[in-house]
Amino acid sequence: MKLSEKQQQWLFIAIAVLLGLSVVGYRAYTALLPAASTYIAEKIPESVYQTIGESSLESFDESEFLPSKLAAEQQERVRTSYQGLLKNLSLSIEDYPLHFRYWSDQMNAFALMDGSIIVTDSLVAKLGNEQQLMAVLLHEVGHVQHNHLMENTIRVSLFYITMSLMFGDVGVVSDLLIEGSTLGLNLSYSRDFEKEADAYAAQKLEELYGSNEAMIEALKILYEQNDLETFHWASTHPTFAERKTSIENLAND
Ligand SMILES: [Zn+2]
Repeated sequence: MKLSEKQQQWLFIAIAVLLGLSVVGYRAYTALLPAASTYIAEKIPESVYQTIGESSLESFDESEFLPSKLAAEQQERVRTSYQGLLKNLSLSIEDYPLHFRYWSDQMNAFALMDGSIIVTDSLVAKLGNEQQLMAVLLHEVGHVQHNHLMENTIRVSLFYITMSLMFGDVGVVSDLLIEGSTLGLNLSYSRDFEKEADAYAAQKLEELYGSNEAMIEALKILYEQNDLETFHWASTHPTFAERKTSIENLAND
């Protein structure tokens, strides 16, 4: 079939419109959604962050965690280093409280909405030295400083709301919002958020210890445990190699 000149013109316009729409959609997803999430996250009062953080820890304590089995002296040692770390960063322990928990053999650390940092016994036990542990804790402090958890939760919620509105299934919206309000805990962060937290940790390590090597070492150990469910740490996305390169490139900037 040979298209007439007019048909060709229409075809061209249709393709241009489709391309245009894809670009707009992609821009909305990559630029507008994060910007809207940041804006909304900043408007949310501090008390909401507190309440969510506390209830998340409570529900984790009921369902997943046991009290830490680490020796009191070991906990004290880590806590002292961590406090020293925060002091050097002019941050207060009240804003970034540290909690030790036993979580079977899960090697993990993560931040909650209120700034609490949870560290599992297995992580403390398996990291090679204290500087690596501090690197991991700094990464978590970075997530809190950049408000990633709230932004991530809002971002994912907005995405699902938009999708549901577009496809007309409003019932799904409420389900997803409820699910989303398990508050980011089962969500993985975006690649950018991980890199931002890595960069924060690497930069602070550099300032405090004169090297960010501990961050790369800690990541390597975490990725080697990849067969375990190390949610948010050691995801396949970004990969270890990608994160290592990003950290190494920081020093060259
Ligand atoms: Zn992270």
